[in-house]
Amino acid sequence: MGNFYTDVIQRDSRFQSATRVAELDLLEPTTRRLVEQIVDSAQKMGIPLIVYETYRSQARQQELFDQGATKLRKVGVHHYGLACDIVRSIGGEPSWKGDFAFLGELAHASGLIWGGDWGNPGIKHSFVDAVHVQRSTVAREPALFAGTWYPDDTYNPYADDPHLLFAAATPSKPTGSKSAAAVPRPKKRS
Ligand SMILES: [Zn+2]
Repeated sequence: MGNFYTDVIQRDSRFQSATRVAELDLLEPTTRRLVEQIVDSAQKMGIPLIVYETYRSQARQQELFDQGATKLRKVGVHHYGLACDIVRSIGGEPSWKGDFAFLGELAHASGLIWGGDWGNPGIKHSFVDAVHVQRSTVAREPALFAGTWYPDDTYNPYADDPHLLFAAATPSKPTGSKSAAAVPRPKKRS
């Protein structure tokens, strides 16, 4: 059975786009609705936001990696239409400055995982991405990337099996290889 990734994203002309994609139509519908909800809520709080990046191709990820703009060589949840980068709008221009804790609160309230705590504020994370939200737990990512899992309309990452969140805190790959080191891997507080 198909899903938004196989039915829409893979068939879209932007699938291999090497340039940034900010259009909401490449976000999986529930993700899209929640992102719009967050932007509306922030606007009401007096914080204008810009949806900076939605879908990302592997070609763009490789380019960003080569430029040193990301530590991740392999494209992540953005590639599946389930992640979005949302930045502040300062005079109409995108800005990464300031505190994004409000985004964490809005993400949590809407049912998206925030890259500031990866859904688990109790853990000290080695990898923080304060402008990033996504509709899957970190623990689901390997299955998502393998094509064996995709969220349905009702999936709520916060209601996902707790052991999956816990599993995200434990490295699943042996360290030492470059790709393993590039995976965002929350570490337990020591
Ligand atoms: Zn992101």
